[in-house]
Amino acid sequence: MQKPKDQLEVFKELLTRKGLKYTHERESIYEEVRAINHHFNADSLYERFKKRGERIARATVYRNLPLLLESGVVQKSAGNGKRDFYERTRTKGHHDHMVCLGCRKIIEFHSDELEQIQEQLSRKYKFKLVFHDHRLFGYCEKCQS
Ligand SMILES: [Zn+2]
Ligand SMILES: [Zn+2]
Repeated sequence: MQKPKDQLEVFKELLTRKGLKYTHERESIYEEVRAINHHFNADSLYERFKKRGERIARATVYRNLPLLLESGVVQKSAGNGKRDFYERTRTKGHHDHMVCLGCRKIIEFHSDELEQIQEQLSRKYKFKLVFHDHRLFGYCEKCQS
């Protein structure tokens, strides 16, 4: 397997491709999401800056999350509520989620086969896959009894 590129490098490359700059605000947002160990959404990320008294517009946070998603710095996650949830992509790599409809427990899983099938399907449909958000809904072992 290829050695994964430094995530900051990938993020900066994406910005360059889109004609965007690695601004001070983007640096703050990048550093912040790398430091969060749990699932978050755009609002909870914004609140962290606000609490510290760092001036970053809510709209800036919202605008930059898709860029972090596209560069693989964060991945879609599962959480309670209608909003999109994110989490940083860990060094151990990408994973997907099973969500319990009973107790809301979230199980993280990874399947090489599933990832490969998704890539094969994308190739078959001439689709340029950027990221995916794979969630399975059901009941955990405890909630089944
Ligand atoms: Zn996956
Ligand atoms: Zn459960």
